Amino acid sequence: MICPIHPGKKINVICIEPHGCQKKLCSECQYYHGGDTKQYLPFQRVLNKLKLKSEEFQLYKQQLKEKFTFPDLIKQIDYQLIGVWKDLRESFQKINEGIEDQDIIYLNLMNSGLSPSEYSYSDLEILINILQTDELNNWNKSKSHYFNQSQQATLMLKSEVEKLQQFITEQFQGVLAYKKQQEYDGFLDAKSKSTKTKCQIIYTKFNEIQYKCNGEILQTIIIYDLLNKPQIIKNLDVLKHVHWKGELGNDYKKVGLWTAEWMDTKQIVSCGSYSQNGMKYGYWIEMVKDYFQEMNLLEVGEYVNNLRQGTWKYCYNFEYMYQF
Ligand SMILES: [Zn+2]
Ligand SMILES: [Zn+2]
Repeated sequence: MICPIHPGKKINVICIEPHGCQKKLCSECQYYHGGDTKQYLPFQRVLNKLKLKSEEFQLYKQQLKEKFTFPDLIKQIDYQLIGVWKDLRESFQKINEGIEDQDIIYLNLMNSGLSPSEYSYSDLEILINILQTDELNNWNKSKSHYFNQSQQATLMLKSEVEKLQQFITEQFQGVLAYKKQQEYDGFLDAKSKSTKTKCQIIYTKFNEIQYKCNGEILQTIIIYDLLNKPQIIKNLDVLKHVHWKGELGNDYKKVGLWTAEWMDTKQIVSCGSYSQNGMKYGYWIEMVKDYFQEMNLLEVGEYVNNLRQGTWKYCYNFEYMYQF
């Protein structure tokens, strides 16, 4: 690649300093650019380094694939469910068809319109049984018994499937959320609560969602909890202006001090601590449920194991917290 600034000179190094320069430099560019030689990487070294990184990356990818077998498990569950259901469905069908076949045998014999001399010996035997014994009554009785059993089994199965369905919808809310776009009614701010505004939660990547309302993206967040549904924040003013800051622990749960800031004013509107396993504890100051900025009404009180304890007091000023 030839340098656009110095014709005839080949671009052969990359500047790795994060200072917003042109990055691709020829030997002459390099001369004018100045600085430490360590900040220049020759192209070949860049390629070698990338190759190493890529190998490392592939190795880790492979290790994870060996460690986590859930994609195979999902396939396995698929086969299990489909297989067992197919067997069952076909068996029920066979039972039903068998009963129907027997009915047809009786009906054909009785309605054939043949003269008795034309029947085979075995058919005649059945005919005589129909006429002289309880053959049909007995068959009707056992038929009703088979139907009853099949019905009971099917109802039992239906109820178990409903339980499984319920379990899946309850336990996998977050996972299921990936399939369809979530919509909910929000309101522009606490003062105009009665005016509903349609909002959407859109997955832009598997782990990134956007809260969108009237075409405007109000917030983009990375989600770490794939199993639970993303939080629904109805107060769009809060959604748009409040920005949380804090640290995540090893398992991506919130740990230590977290603060929420109203972005335009830099005012702190919520603050408190999370334990090592992501539970709120100790004194917290939080926005009231229908918070709006002009009034800045906050609540202060104590959390134990993520649950509010004792009496919570209203306050208008963040400083209030330090009176405890
Ligand atoms: Zn540079
Ligand atoms: Zn140049």
